[in-house]
Amino acid sequence: MLRQRQGRRPGVPALNYFPLFIDLRAQRVLVVGGGEVARRKVHLLERAGARVTWVAPEVVPELARGSADGALTLVQREFAPEDLSGARLVIVATPRRALNRWIASLCDARAIPVNVVDDREASRVILPAIIDRDPVLVAVSTGGASPVLARRLRERLEAVLPKRIGALAAWLGELRGQTRRRLSGSRRSFFESLIDGAAARRFIDGEERGAQRMAQRLLACASVARRRTGEVTLVGAGPGDAELLTLKALRALSDADVILYDRLVSAEVLDFARRDALRICVGKTAHAAGTSQECINELMITHARAGRRVVRLKGGDPFVFGRGGEELEALARAGIDFSVVPGISAANGCAAYAGIPLTHRDHAHAVSFVTGHAGDDSAEPDWPSLARPKLTAVFYMGLARLDHITAKLIEHGAPPERPAALIAQGTRASQQVVTATLASIRAVASARRLESPALLVVGDVVSLHSTLSWFSAREPVAATPMAATGS
Ligand code: SAH
Repeated sequence: MLRQRQGRRPGVPALNYFPLFIDLRAQRVLVVGGGEVARRKVHLLERAGARVTWVAPEVVPELARGSADGALTLVQREFAPEDLSGARLVIVATPRRALNRWIASLCDARAIPVNVVDDREASRVILPAIIDRDPVLVAVSTGGASPVLARRLRERLEAVLPKRIGALAAWLGELRGQTRRRLSGSRRSFFESLIDGAAARRFIDGEERGAQRMAQRLLACASVARRRTGEVTLVGAGPGDAELLTLKALRALSDADVILYDRLVSAEVLDFARRDALRICVGKTAHAAGTSQECINELMITHARAGRRVVRLKGGDPFVFGRGGEELEALARAGIDFSVVPGISAANGCAAYAGIPLTHRDHAHAVSFVTGHAGDDSAEPDWPSLARPKLTAVFYMGLARLDHITAKLIEHGAPPERPAALIAQGTRASQQVVTATLASIRAVASARRLESPALLVVGDVVSLHSTLSWFSAREPVAATPMAATGS
């Protein structure tokens, strides 16, 4: 029997083999040939629950016995055509090519799928290289063109597939039962969020309890029926480190059809969006205006009215110097449904990653978040209260006006030696922390050429940085004599 290529309609792309997985439990399978290759096939077939008849005049010694439960029958003689009766599948692996081909032609005449080891032409079915992480089974085939390439591919896939991918699949299988009862239309997006998100990662890391908790939470959110009309979710993306996203942010991102994001949002965070989501950068830089606020509002409203799930993604927290309030007011006026997912604001993220507690019983009893951005004079902050002792003042957007801020604080009574820190690119691998005093921070900062985004923290809590700093940036910057630390 030689394989014939025919029967394909013109214009239909060729498929070398039809891929399929076959359930062989309690099915009769015939293996002919007594060597090592045949032994391996017998072993695999036994694992698949087949009833194997193994015909060979001589077999590898350690297997010259039938299995205890009768699933393997060893027949120690030459092959006879009657052996084929009732077989679902035949694997032929004798060293005699002519014999193999004769058996193959008998099989073909009886419509029994046959594989002849190392003889693709004579085979009706071929056996792929496999990655076996039960119940996950990955089969690789080059259509017989290159078994070595198939093995290499298998090795590469082995390396990228998590060891516990099989356990994950089994868990997802259990969850399917629960979701059938509790979710109707949104099951697919529930599983997408689960698999793409932190829950699956935890499970793969062996944290099954945490993964289970996350899955139940996701399930609770997902079982709330989804409206078909569009909506906008204002999402805080945190200060940079993508792992600081909340679970809700993750879910909103993986559900979104359209994402309008600010320049401050890190690429790693955007990676959590669905591949086919429309991403629109509406960011402003210090030098370029970016998309106007009216235009951003318009974009949100238009996409939501078209029935899309819009995520408005903002650096840090949307309600801290993020114009989140103004954007929601516009949505409310337009009658668009909205919700808010808070994020870790730069002050929280930077403080944590720089080892500078914002409050501390010995050093600060209050904290103020202030914008250092140049506004009109009437928008000047309350300098006397910011200059008070035992208070931590955190200035957003303060880098460009460092001079003004430090001068004003000193003018209103803050001692020039009060500790101050600049944290640039906080929580990112490129984070830099510079500590000095109110009087010297500007000089230190310009020597270090810090790049925005950067946060200025003023207060006695800054003195704790030298003891509490823990986060190592990817490329530590050499310390300068001016008490600057790259961390
Ligand atoms: N809504 C944001 C703030 C937006 S204003 C939040 O809650 O964090 C932008 C300012 O935030 C920047 O000028 C900078 O002062 C600060 N900022 C944002 N991300 C930062 C980061 N990773 N490191 C340091 N400062 C950051």
